[in-house]
Amino acid sequence: MSRESAANARYRAISEASSRCVRTVEPPKDAAGKPMPVSEFFGCNTFNTEAMEKHLPADVFRKLQETIKNGSRLDMDIAGAVAHGMKEWAVSRGATHFCHWFQPQTGLTAEKHDAFLAFDERGRPIEKFSGSLLIQSEPDASSFPSGGLRSTFEARGYTAWDASSPAFIMEGPNGNILCIPSAFVGYHGEALDQKAPLLRSMEALSKKATEILRLFGNKTATRVVATAGPEQEYFLIDQAFYNLRPDLVSAGRTLLGSKPPKGQELEDHYFGSIKPRIQAFMQEAEYELYKLGFPAKTRHNEVAPSQYEIAPIFEEANVASDHNQLLMEILRVVARRHGFVLLLHEKPFAGINGSGKHVNWSMADSDGNNLLEPGTTPHQNLQFLVFLMATLKAVHKRSGLLRSTVASSGNDHRLGANEAPPAIISAFLGEQLNRILDQIEKGAKGDESTEKRILSLGISALPAVNRDYTDRNRTSPFAFTGNKFEFRAVGSAFAISTPLAVLNSAVAESMDEVGAKLKEKLKDGAPLERAVMEVVKAAITETKAIRFEGNNYAGEWVTEAEKRGLPNLRTTPEALEYMGRADEKKFLEKAGVLSPAESESRYHVKLERYIKDLEIEAQALEDIVETMVLPAAYRYQAELGNTLGALEKVGPKAGARAHKTAEKVASLTGKLADSTEAMIAALHKAAGIADLNKKAKSFAETVVPAMAAVREAADSLEDTVPDDLWPLPKYREMLFIA
Ligand code: ADP
Ligand code: MG
Repeated sequence: MSRESAANARYRAISEASSRCVRTVEPPKDAAGKPMPVSEFFGCNTFNTEAMEKHLPADVFRKLQETIKNGSRLDMDIAGAVAHGMKEWAVSRGATHFCHWFQPQTGLTAEKHDAFLAFDERGRPIEKFSGSLLIQSEPDASSFPSGGLRSTFEARGYTAWDASSPAFIMEGPNGNILCIPSAFVGYHGEALDQKAPLLRSMEALSKKATEILRLFGNKTATRVVATAGPEQEYFLIDQAFYNLRPDLVSAGRTLLGSKPPKGQELEDHYFGSIKPRIQAFMQEAEYELYKLGFPAKTRHNEVAPSQYEIAPIFEEANVASDHNQLLMEILRVVARRHGFVLLLHEKPFAGINGSGKHVNWSMADSDGNNLLEPGTTPHQNLQFLVFLMATLKAVHKRSGLLRSTVASSGNDHRLGANEAPPAIISAFLGEQLNRILDQIEKGAKGDESTEKRILSLGISALPAVNRDYTDRNRTSPFAFTGNKFEFRAVGSAFAISTPLAVLNSAVAESMDEVGAKLKEKLKDGAPLERAVMEVVKAAITETKAIRFEGNNYAGEWVTEAEKRGLPNLRTTPEALEYMGRADEKKFLEKAGVLSPAESESRYHVKLERYIKDLEIEAQALEDIVETMVLPAAYRYQAELGNTLGALEKVGPKAGARAHKTAEKVASLTGKLADSTEAMIAALHKAAGIADLNKKAKSFAETVVPAMAAVREAADSLEDTVPDDLWPLPKYREMLFIA
């Protein structure tokens, strides 16, 4: 690329990005061509209750509803009829193909399309879909990560329909596809995906929570589900810039780039008015999402420039997890239509806020009661305290493993940075609840009866916990926000299924413990109130270390947390170690969520992924330095050489300033070349280590800092080399022009 064209490409991108028109977006229209209100087309591309009722025989419809309500397996007796009805519906909505849609351990979703096309006995083309194809399909699984769980000669994997998550139609520009949300398992039933463990954890949680409800005399609840509402953060940048950044294309984040003079210091983006082009994008994405039954609720500008958020109304965790995968896909596709590229990386721009996924989580019984909602009677609040303490116990006992579920090279840049929850997992409860727990722990004054004590503690009618207050501590990785917890350490690109699976399992485990203790006390003749207060009190003492109300970003917290014995897992390899631990494996096995072999395989998949991500990043960085940055620096040096020659002719003093600049550029260029060499040496050394865990550690300890050194030199050059020689779109352009 000639010097002219390098700069030209960038300048063309700037003019392209700044002159794009706002794309017109319209809601779906009814038969008469009139735009429909959302309520009329919401879920029109899902095989929802209405579609089922219309396309299934009455008895099949009833049975399927039961299956869905109980979270049980689909009966083979009705599978044929369900498949037929589903096909009729899908074909009527323009679908030509179907696929089992699943979540392999790549964090993405996978699909393999099959046509409905078949031929009848007389050779005539028909649309056909059978019960067995609905229930199960056999994609070639050999290329999905399995962490050694599946040897290649047993490469078969099966996808099985999860009837609790509605089938949907994905509209494409050239045809529609019926997608059947599925779990992905190996030949011997081993989980190869992220959904299977989540479904298993939901079962474990339901069983244990229902047992506790029974102790409180609840006879009506048949099931308890985990609920989730993930708030999704993301960046949008113009595709003209994206195309000129090899780092964004291959790594999803900028590996170099000097900070803009104005970043987010003015705090003028958060909740600011949404630009028309962005608003059009959001509107269109939401129309698509509504058709898919995704309950999009809020949208706004986030803290960083070009950063946004979308949050849904909460749903059953398993459905919320599928919906979040769909959300990421829809945002990605619709962004392109508007000339944007969606960035889901946890830290696409250094020095600018990163993106997370705040996963709001609670539990609800089959009568619709939120189990983490404080009540209005002593009885209700005793029950609330039990579920609250069970959650705290879970986070306390399994904080390391929870941290491991949100570990990735991307999230390492975010956790612990001064804008995101730190790598230390603690829980925030808010002043009111804290005071109550402290008082319970201190115990009764004198000879107060339990009943009296409950009243005097103010838990007879816990006032609705003030949201504004609980939400004020944005620094906590796990915060109680009135009637749910918010798990904020999840990264923006993550599938939420695994973090949710471990959280559910941990809470199931602690509910099992709490339930057993309660039963024991009740058996010994203690009245319920006393039994509960004793169990709650013990749990308060036990989990004290995990409760933290202060500023999680403060340096003192690191010291304090260490004193409390809380793990501070700064890097992915440190966090992942927990997945490999025998007692964590035993815990997941006991919960019925992952066998030790399944846990081990996941540990390997995550380690391998971490290493691959960093290999890609280091190689991309080398490539950019060698082919873009160093050439620009050399050109500038040559230019300075000419300038110096010319200036010398003017007089001895004339070239003094230019000489200084030339020296600076030469020194930075040398630094950049040397640090790049050092980075590649570190990369080769790390890549040569056989033991996976040691290899990952070596990447964290040597390659990551070596990349930072390269970046530092490159960013200084960016601030020095003439603008018309710089080939890479700059932060101020990518983040502020749209
Ligand atoms: P705020 O964060 O301001 O309190 P909301 O209460 O509306 O706002 O909730 C934020 C997110 O939490 C939303 O995505 C919402 O669906 C979700 N959420 C609310 N209640 C629950 C719940 N019981 N379980 C799981 N998620 C919930
Ligand atoms: Mg929130």
